[in-house]
Amino acid sequence: MTPTGLSTGVSTAAKRRVLISGASIAGPALAYWLHRSGCAVTVVEKAGALRDGGYPIDIRGTATEVVRRMGILPQLRDAHIDSRRCTFLDADGGEVASVSPSAVAGSVEGQDLEVRRGDLAAILHAMVRDDVEFLFGDSIDTLDQSGQGVDVTFHSGRRRTFDLVVGADGMHSATRESLFGPEERFHRHLGYCFAVFTMPNTFGLSREVVLWNTPGKAAALYAVGDNDELHAFLNFHRPEPPLDALRNPDAQRDLVATVFAGAGWEVPRMVDAMRDADDLFFDTAGQIRMPHWSSGRVALVGDAAYAPSFLTGQGSSLALVGAYMLADALATHRDHTAAFAAYERDVREFVAMNQALVDNGAATLFPTTARALEERNAMLRDLVTMPAAPARPAHSALTLPEFGRVEPPMSPR
Ligand SMILES: Cc1cc2nc3c(=O)[nH]c(=O)nc-3n(C[C@H](O)[C@H](O)[C@H](O)COP(=O)(O)OP(=O)(O)OC[C@H]3O[C@@H](n4cnc5c(N)ncnc54)[C@H](O)[C@@H]3O)c2cc1C
Repeated sequence: MTPTGLSTGVSTAAKRRVLISGASIAGPALAYWLHRSGCAVTVVEKAGALRDGGYPIDIRGTATEVVRRMGILPQLRDAHIDSRRCTFLDADGGEVASVSPSAVAGSVEGQDLEVRRGDLAAILHAMVRDDVEFLFGDSIDTLDQSGQGVDVTFHSGRRRTFDLVVGADGMHSATRESLFGPEERFHRHLGYCFAVFTMPNTFGLSREVVLWNTPGKAAALYAVGDNDELHAFLNFHRPEPPLDALRNPDAQRDLVATVFAGAGWEVPRMVDAMRDADDLFFDTAGQIRMPHWSSGRVALVGDAAYAPSFLTGQGSSLALVGAYMLADALATHRDHTAAFAAYERDVREFVAMNQALVDNGAATLFPTTARALEERNAMLRDLVTMPAAPARPAHSALTLPEFGRVEPPMSPR
């Protein structure tokens, strides 16, 4: 008997058993498509439950087609934030310009979506929770590929064997580290750190973003609806990543408070709120760039393989498209090596184009010098009077294949 469905392809009775590490965006999206192509899927997530929170995320271009094919477009349209305006402020809180959010992001109004990250994660999870095994509060300790499959030892002590393992465990992926080595090899620091948290909406803001800038520092308040909570965001220039603070929430709070000491506008209130926040998310803005996204029977998807950073606004879109393309490659290729090669070949250029959007985002949202800030402000004042910016070609640069379609063999003439 064949121990796995792998050697004989997806059409055999034995299902391919796939373990996915990470239950945020890429993980559940991949689980959906793998289940649909007949795999037995297990998802292991380090957190004890699905993680809520984080800044709202965008679903644009090709990724919109992925969620349409999953049948969740109506739910996401209901969850769409539909921000009315984005107002930029100077050091004293005076208005520089108020523009439509799509003009800044290059989104297509009426098509692209902006939803709370937690809403997207919850919708994806709901799509698969009855068909896929979820192991919350656990993680992979060791991966051993020396046998017929991947022997996995979990942190909890359980041991299982899978045909394939996929790391969807984010920018600081442990799967990547165990296979390819330390993050420093692949992490491209973009010179910023950021803290995201929720705070009370005592500002009367509604469906809008307010962004305060001084050179190298930015503070944003994002009202996703008319409710009484705001997403607060503090971002600052830091040429070298603060490695100690990345592992220590108290050090993160101290670092942010020190950087923003003496800042104007509502920043002191934001810093106070950050001290009390129980959902602080702190990280560096960075990208993951790897020469390969798989090794043997283990592959990476989403931020773990090709995080583009929030400066591109494309992290979730790449995760959704990557998940679709990886599952499609596995559904159409009997051999996982060929499937992983096809996944890389077909997605790499799309990733590169979207990672390249980073310079634009940094220049628009977070200028680091007084001169760059002046130029940015002049550009914004022009935007107020100009028609909406064109959509970014990178967002739609990949055309999805029909899912799981195996090309028929050429017929003899
Ligand atoms: C709570 C949260 C808040 C976020 N907030 C922001 C934000 O404000 N701005 C922004 O730009 N991006 C944010 N992100 C990242 C954003 O979701 C991703 O850029 C994008 O959606 C791509 O998703 P992903 O699924 O590839 O990775 P991620 O969304 O990073 O998900 C990785 C998942 O893997 C889990 N995980 C990590 N290590 C392990 C492990 N060893 N074993 C098992 N599971 C593991 C994590 O808990 C997480 O659920 C946030 C992510 C999370 C989880």
